[in-house]
Amino acid sequence: MILSRRSPSGISIKSAKEIEFMRRAGQIVADTKVRVKEAIRPGVTTGELDRIAEDYIRSVGAMPSFKGYKAGGNIPFSGTICASVNEEIVHGIPGNRVLNEGDILSVDFGAIAEGFHGDSAFTMGVGEISEEAQRLIDATRESLKQGIAQVKAGGRISDISHAVQTYAEGMGFSVVRQYVGHGIGRALHEEPQVPNYGEAGRGPMLKKGMTIAIEPMLNIGGWETEQLDDGWTVVTADGSLSAHFEDTIAITQDGAEVLTSPEGYYF
Ligand code: MG
Ligand code: MG
Repeated sequence: MILSRRSPSGISIKSAKEIEFMRRAGQIVADTKVRVKEAIRPGVTTGELDRIAEDYIRSVGAMPSFKGYKAGGNIPFSGTICASVNEEIVHGIPGNRVLNEGDILSVDFGAIAEGFHGDSAFTMGVGEISEEAQRLIDATRESLKQGIAQVKAGGRISDISHAVQTYAEGMGFSVVRQYVGHGIGRALHEEPQVPNYGEAGRGPMLKKGMTIAIEPMLNIGGWETEQLDDGWTVVTADGSLSAHFEDTIAITQDGAEVLTSPEGYYF
C-alpha cells in the first residue's frame, strides 16, 4: 500500500502514481454520468437511475462510494446515487419516486477504483423546465467553473470559495453554507473543507498533488437548509429550487486537472 504524503496541514499530497489512480476513478464517474444523463426523462424513477449507475460502476470493477456510507448515527445510505428533486439540495434517497416533466434532478455519486475515490454531481432538467430553473442550473455549473478557474499551486482554498459566491450571488442566487466541498483520495471526505462562500486569500495553501472536490449548491431563494425525517434528504428551508454541480480535481502547478469531467462540460 502506498501511503500518501501529508502536508503539515494534514492535507494529503498525492504522488503522480496516485493521481493516475484517481484519474481512473474519475473516468469511471464521468462515464457513469453519461449513462445516467441519457436515462433522465419524464416517467423514470430515481431507483431506475440508481440501478444504471450501480450496474455500470460494478461492471468496470469499481465500487459505489456512497452505498452503505454512514454519517453520524444515521442509517447507512442505501443508494449508489443521491437523487435530489426540485427543492431537495443533496442526499435524496433513490427509490420509487417518478420524475415528472418540469422537475429538476440533482445526481451526486462517487466511485472507488484502485483504492481511490472520484466524486461528482450535476443537475439536469426533466423534459421541458422553466426558464428560471434553467438559469439556476446554468449558474450553478458556471459557479463551479469559476471556482475551478481560481485553482493553482500557491493559491488558497478560499480563493475558490470567494469566486463561487461572487458569481452565484451576482446571478441573484444564494449559496448553501451548511454543506461544503472537501479533500478526497483514499477517503471520500478528507481535509480540507472547501466552502462555497467567504473572503479570498484564506485557508490552507493549495499545493501540487492535492485533490479536492468542489461542489457549489445554489438556491433560488434563501441559503437555509432543513433535513427531512428520513435522516438524509436535505431541502431548502423556503421550498425554493436548488441545483448542485461537483467535480473532483487535482491541483497542478498552474491550474487544475478536472478528473471527473475530463471531456469538459458538454451540456
Ligand atoms: Mg458528491
Ligand atoms: Mg462531495
